[in-house]
Amino acid sequence: MFERVPTLLENLILGEDIDRRLRFAKYLPEWLLRRIQVSEFQATLIRAGEHARFYQRRFKESGLDPRRLRQPSDLGDFYTTAADLRALPVEDFLCARPQYGFETTGTTAKNKRVYFSNEEVHDIGFEGAVGLWNLGLRPEDRVVDAFDYAFWNAGITLLHSLNAIGCFHVIASKLPPEEFYERVRDYRFNVLIVDTAWLVALTEIAERRGVWPVKFILSGSENLAEATRAWVERIWSAKVYQAYGQTESLGATGIECPAQRGYHLNEFNFLFELREPNPEGWGELVFSTLTRKVMPFIRYRSNDITRFLDDDCGCPLTIMRRIDKIAGRADEIISCGMGMISPWIFETWLAGTPGLADDWQVAVTQPGARDRLLLRLELSAGGATPDEIEAELTRRLEQRFPYYFKNWRMGMYEIGFEFHPRGTLRPSGGRRKLRRLLDERIPVAARQTEAPAPQPLSAEGSEI
Ligand SMILES: [Zn+2]
Repeated sequence: MFERVPTLLENLILGEDIDRRLRFAKYLPEWLLRRIQVSEFQATLIRAGEHARFYQRRFKESGLDPRRLRQPSDLGDFYTTAADLRALPVEDFLCARPQYGFETTGTTAKNKRVYFSNEEVHDIGFEGAVGLWNLGLRPEDRVVDAFDYAFWNAGITLLHSLNAIGCFHVIASKLPPEEFYERVRDYRFNVLIVDTAWLVALTEIAERRGVWPVKFILSGSENLAEATRAWVERIWSAKVYQAYGQTESLGATGIECPAQRGYHLNEFNFLFELREPNPEGWGELVFSTLTRKVMPFIRYRSNDITRFLDDDCGCPLTIMRRIDKIAGRADEIISCGMGMISPWIFETWLAGTPGLADDWQVAVTQPGARDRLLLRLELSAGGATPDEIEAELTRRLEQRFPYYFKNWRMGMYEIGFEFHPRGTLRPSGGRRKLRRLLDERIPVAARQTEAPAPQPLSAEGSEI
């Protein structure tokens, strides 16, 4: 029976009226949402088990009968991973004929492919429209979209959201920020939808050359450090909101609300879990698709570390649970002389340091007996000198992380700095995601026979 509920809700009550849907969301009982999710999860298991070669094989190997499974927890340690997507042909995951194909912008050379139907892209775009409406987007607004369209889904999904709202929009795509600034200035767009790292470069130009009235800015694809958000908001005199998603989820898995405290999850289309949460509730976000017919995923490991938030944000989307900002990647936690380190430590350490641009990368190296943390930092234009930055970072380490500072003073690890011009750390001319934390220590056995540690990227280097 519950399998038919979403269709009935969709057809009879909600329709394609965004405002009505948002108002209705407040009154949807949580028990009903959970029952619908479980029912759709069961249907997805059966569909995947019948049609997708990957799941047929994996269910068999794991001794699982999809018809007998009820809850995600019934699947034990059964997960779908990014490695599965990279290793196997996309056809192994398909349950129906696709109409759209996208690729992920990962940190490795081989991109994952994810396929969808027209209907799926349309539906996710519609859910995205509900989130944008919640942020205040209305048909009379004027939107410019500066997402990269090459092989990537974010722009296409957004296009469907903007079509649903019916506002005026221009697809600028990811132009160089100077060119973008010149060409869009006269349009007086009051909503900017952009890529996070790119927004910083655009804002630097706007700081020098002037801004125009903006209602809000939505940035996607990567975490925006809070200090940077505050700076961008000050320059534009507008709120900056963030969206969270992956190509595997077709973009909008979550979006902030006016409270700017975490992402509301799209629980109509996905069932979310946290894998192995620690005592503070942080764990890896795992999702199962509920409505996808072409390429469903059962318990896909996002590799993103986050936690559920339970305080009340007060917006109409309260029924959709929120997650915190992404604290790091599950495969980026490294044990070294500094301790167990993850990217958020460095985000917190580096945030707001005068003279630094947004991009950074930390490599754990081992030139001698001790681990050495090599901080690869990008300099902002006209900022502090490398010496001043090093002194400031030492001071901040002591202040913000006394434990790590003490370990460093005790000689448990070394710290080195490399300074690079802005925009040069990110591979492929800034189009790929930057891996924040790297383990570049060569295993002891290999060190005796092979070449020494990898070469630094370039530029000035020093150590403290
Ligand atoms: Zn909210």
